[in-house]
Amino acid sequence: MVVVMQERASEEQIEKVVAHLVGLKMDVHRSTGVSRTVLGAVGDDRHLDPRLLEMLDGVSEVMQVTEPYKLASRAFKPEGTVVSLGEVRIGGDEVIVMAGPCSAETEEQVNAAAAAVKKAGAKILRGGAFKPRSSPYSFQGLGEDGLRMLRAAANEHDLKLVSEVMDVSQIGLIETYCDMFQVGARNMQNYTLLKELGRQRKPVLLKRGIAATIEEWLLSAEYILAGGNGGVVLCERGIRTFENYTRNTLDISAIPVVKKLSHLPIVVDPSHGTGRRDKVAPMARAAVAAGADGLIIEVHCDPDRALSDGAQSMFPSQFDRLMAELRIIAPAIGRTICLEPVMRRGWSQGER
Ligand code: PEP
Ligand code: MN
Repeated sequence: MVVVMQERASEEQIEKVVAHLVGLKMDVHRSTGVSRTVLGAVGDDRHLDPRLLEMLDGVSEVMQVTEPYKLASRAFKPEGTVVSLGEVRIGGDEVIVMAGPCSAETEEQVNAAAAAVKKAGAKILRGGAFKPRSSPYSFQGLGEDGLRMLRAAANEHDLKLVSEVMDVSQIGLIETYCDMFQVGARNMQNYTLLKELGRQRKPVLLKRGIAATIEEWLLSAEYILAGGNGGVVLCERGIRTFENYTRNTLDISAIPVVKKLSHLPIVVDPSHGTGRRDKVAPMARAAVAAGADGLIIEVHCDPDRALSDGAQSMFPSQFDRLMAELRIIAPAIGRTICLEPVMRRGWSQGER
């Protein structure tokens, strides 16, 4: 149930409605928009008569949210959510690019990748220290040593940091070193993990499960939101279909669908979405053109020797070119994208 307050509703009127809903054993989540306050009431609303709520002073409209997710729904928050990592804002006008290696391997490798992606205009460094690998014999990540390398490189190059948390026991470590938790595709339905992340303050990048419907994905986001953490960014990273030329099938249509159903920002991972380096740029361009709020891309300075996902990791020069292309696409759909200082100085003077 969503209660939309009138534009000029007083704080006292809002509090009375909240108290009324709490009295009916509902959990109330408040969202203060530009012009009005919206109250999302979650719980068993079978015996709640919307007409009685509409009679309360200051109430404009009461809506039954028919979708099973409530707090993630557009009805609860008509304007889009902006998720902030310090001054980096995901969901605003600017398309935010996160980039870096699949895994942290060595200090030099992480540092070189961070330098390259920063130079091209990325705002957030990505890199795994705990890796969910299909085979138990594959490289599993460097754990805390990897996080230390990633944090040092992010600081050195003035980037924010996102890294994957695979298990509740790793939350403390990831929280210490990173600006954002990444929940991988394999963990989208790890509800114990999602509930615990709901109690955290730092934002969460929630990847879509390999066989998850959009509704299941939004319900996973709902777990985090219901726990009190409003900083959820969705990430489309490809789903499993019968097609096996590409590693996954990147569902670009999920972008406009999510934009309609939810207020949460959505970013796209064309690296895992395609599994092939040469297909990353076209899909990244398509994602931005389709309205994605950002991208997360694997970049490695020596991808053929990468310990994980080398085939889909871009060379820095490819990433650089992609960023230049995105600077043409983003404004065409009313978005901006970082003009990194080096580019601003050199690009128009034929440096590239
Ligand atoms: C990754 O980002 O390296 C990763 C393992 O992603 P996903 O969970 O989408 O497979
Ligand atoms: Mn990877």
